[in-house]
Amino acid sequence: MQNRALSSTKVCLSDSKGQLCLIPATIIFSANSGKILHIFTNEILPSSSPLLETYDVPSSNYRNVSPYLILPGLIDTHVHLNEPGRTEWEGFTTGTQSAIMGGVTTVIDMPLNAIPATVNVTNFNIKLKEAKKPGKLWCDLGFWGGLIPGNTKDLIPLIESGVRGFKGFLIESGVKEFPEVNEMIIKDAMIELESKGYGLNGDSGETMLMFHAEKVPPLLPQSSHVNAHAHEEEEQQSDYDYNPTKYQTFLDSRPDFLETQALKTIISLSEQHPQIPLHIVHISSAETIPLLAHAQRELNLPISAETCFHYLTLNSETVPDKSTSHKCCPPIRSESNRLQLWRTLLEDHENPVIKTVVSDHSPCIPQLKSLESGNFITAWGGISSLGLGLQILHTDLLKSGIDADVAILKIIQWCAVNTAKQVGLDHFKGAIQVGFDADFIIFNPMESYVVENSKLLFKNKLSVYDGMTLTGRVLETVLRGNSVFAYDVGVSDVALGRCILEKRVKIRS
Ligand SMILES: [Zn+2]
Repeated sequence: MQNRALSSTKVCLSDSKGQLCLIPATIIFSANSGKILHIFTNEILPSSSPLLETYDVPSSNYRNVSPYLILPGLIDTHVHLNEPGRTEWEGFTTGTQSAIMGGVTTVIDMPLNAIPATVNVTNFNIKLKEAKKPGKLWCDLGFWGGLIPGNTKDLIPLIESGVRGFKGFLIESGVKEFPEVNEMIIKDAMIELESKGYGLNGDSGETMLMFHAEKVPPLLPQSSHVNAHAHEEEEQQSDYDYNPTKYQTFLDSRPDFLETQALKTIISLSEQHPQIPLHIVHISSAETIPLLAHAQRELNLPISAETCFHYLTLNSETVPDKSTSHKCCPPIRSESNRLQLWRTLLEDHENPVIKTVVSDHSPCIPQLKSLESGNFITAWGGISSLGLGLQILHTDLLKSGIDADVAILKIIQWCAVNTAKQVGLDHFKGAIQVGFDADFIIFNPMESYVVENSKLLFKNKLSVYDGMTLTGRVLETVLRGNSVFAYDVGVSDVALGRCILEKRVKIRS
């Protein structure tokens, strides 16, 4: 079988110290095995090089894409594809096509909003049956399971079926098939995992408990706060005069202390069970940062955290009235909060407080977004941005004046290297290394373009980024050695994605 080669003056590799760098290189890979076979570092081979023949690369299979960048495919670990059950909201096909259009070669599907929810093996198999049908997956797809009341005994069978960890809510999730959990249930889950050898020093393998970290303090009635993704028509009983078409009204209903309250609960549980790796999804409030830093650095607890593209790019001050497409939970907060999140991400520390940036792509049908009434309280909460993250972060980093190459390396660290590690795929994805999957992005960092909802591949073409000018264009996406998206051609005819069901390997000490 003939192999292929790609080269550029700027390929994102790791140096001898494990630091990412952009250097000249030629990558030899197989479209057959999908693996990277060899990397000539600091060398761009001429198409006539006998070395190419040594690796069975005919000159017709060799491309030098300079001055464009070759980057590892991104891994978005927080995506709601909603299939089966709410496929009219997104679906495997449109979701994974949106991913590869933006250089995302692996997505990890959240356990909720599809029906049934991924909370036991029977339900998981229903989802897998759909995902494995031909023509469904344009990128690789892994899965999270869910932690809900009463499914403690389902956790180990789900791990054995290939889920990469579990997500639970400390507040209403917004869908009735995915109830929130309390401390007792989380404790039970931790004990179950520990007793079966799943933990930092366990013998069985690796997993992770993740939390939607908003929690209503005990003295506040839950009903006084709208649920995480409220979408049912609600009669608002309020003792103060408020306007549900103002973003501030919604923001006031999800204050920072819901996040800090939840985090305190999680830290206390982690202190009792420090063997279980925990992860906080979609941090929005900068007030959580000192708590997280203390837990990670002073208490040495295994609690990691992610934030999302929208918390880093958007602020509450500029959300227009009635613009319910900006509603998500936890909410987009103030400009000063946004800048604090950026400072945290860019902090030069060997153990960064927030290590990953994800989309939390959570679409729904337009009717549920209360677009006509512009009512933030009744609208479904969720922002669609799968496949836009690279350009969004790149644009913001360039605006901040950061060096262009440094900006790219930061994004690859957060959205490929670190996300791969989070989901236990870092032994074959998230970096350009010999033996790894040949997942690449060919990226033009200079080109600017205006986002148009109509050109997105989401099933529901609704994005808060519509009309925004972004800098950086994904010219091509390669999945396991095969081109699956090219800017001038579109997505490939054949869906080459696969389900990732390999068990997580044991945590390396
Ligand atoms: Zn989510």
